[in-house]
Amino acid sequence: MMSESIFDVVAQAPEDPILGLNEAFKTDPREKKVNLSIGVYCTEEGKVPLLNVVEKAEQKILEEGAPHTYLPISGLPSFTSGVQKLLFGEDSALIKDKKAVTVQSLGGTGALKVGADFLAQVLPNPEAIVSAPTWQNHVAIFEQAGFEVGSYPYYDKASGEINFPAMLESLKGLKENTVVILHACCHNPTGLDLTQEQWAQVVDVCAAHKLIPFLDIAYQGFGDGLEEDAGAIRQFAASGITFLVANSFSKSFSLYGERIGALTVVCHNSEEASRVMSALKAVIRANYSNPPAHGAKIVGQVLNDPELLAQWHADLKEMRERIKEMRRDLADELKALGAKKDFEFVTRQKGMFSFSGLTPEQVQRLKDEFGVYAVKSGRICVASLNKGNVKYTAEAIKEVL
Ligand code: PMP
Repeated sequence: MMSESIFDVVAQAPEDPILGLNEAFKTDPREKKVNLSIGVYCTEEGKVPLLNVVEKAEQKILEEGAPHTYLPISGLPSFTSGVQKLLFGEDSALIKDKKAVTVQSLGGTGALKVGADFLAQVLPNPEAIVSAPTWQNHVAIFEQAGFEVGSYPYYDKASGEINFPAMLESLKGLKENTVVILHACCHNPTGLDLTQEQWAQVVDVCAAHKLIPFLDIAYQGFGDGLEEDAGAIRQFAASGITFLVANSFSKSFSLYGERIGALTVVCHNSEEASRVMSALKAVIRANYSNPPAHGAKIVGQVLNDPELLAQWHADLKEMRERIKEMRRDLADELKALGAKKDFEFVTRQKGMFSFSGLTPEQVQRLKDEFGVYAVKSGRICVASLNKGNVKYTAEAIKEVL
């Protein structure tokens, strides 16, 4: 039969499973419901916060009353230079030697996308590898950029820990120039991070096997602190190899909708860095021309003002400690209820997420019977728990175990 429309060939693409759950949660009429699916930090009151630091920075921007002009293709210069200091440290040799170039991006996702597009132009047979499991968009972004995407072992189901020897062995078997996507801190979805000693071994393997590390840091400040969470990045920086970093301020500034992040490429020298910058700008120019300004103005102000920087550290500490308290409360509540399983491991995981070990069937029952929404893989966002819903969540989990 003749096709009636050129779009007859378009298949229905699957809905994003996490965003789909979020929509289902919103329309769920039950009064008692808990959304642990999407990676958004909420306050004790269950609200996405407007951080003190953001309020102060926005006040200053308003007082300046500047017009809404275009930003340069690579973004706001005070923002991109601030990002480099945040990632590599104030006194970084990389910065002094102008080996790193940074472009502003549409969140961490945009940073990964610009990086993937750039690398696809550079590599003859682009191949990338992600942790098993990982944030699902890693695979989609690199595949759409033309990469063949594989995975390396990370989470060991039996022990509930990282299988580091298997991960390292897998990296050793990769072809030269394979792009290795690494979660620099607060691994999504498992909440399990490498130790600094383990990172040192990963750096060595990447250097010896000429791999291209691409560090994704979407949760800097949610693990142990801004400086502490940059440990892996600092080790790669000290190694002298080329690598990329995608960072996001969506979570750390609670600026989800402003789409603010950055891509940084660390090169061998400043001349190479300048050529790489020109290529990144060409990618951006043909995609969206130049980035939005508001989020960059906020973050740029903060990164360059000691007083605002101190306020940001304080705001982050408050979020980080509240998450830790919720991890503690969830484990304690489940213990007090006599749950069949020990949930102490939740307190050792880092960042917004916990890989709860719940099966897809248990996750389904949580939603159907209790209105507690989690991701099918068993990932729960502990940053959405609060004193008002943690007990109910524990009771629901206990019932489905
Ligand atoms: N990387 C990881 C691992 C993430 O979890 C996320 C957010 N879910 C991102 C990148 C992208 O963040 P953004 O919202 O800034 O695009």
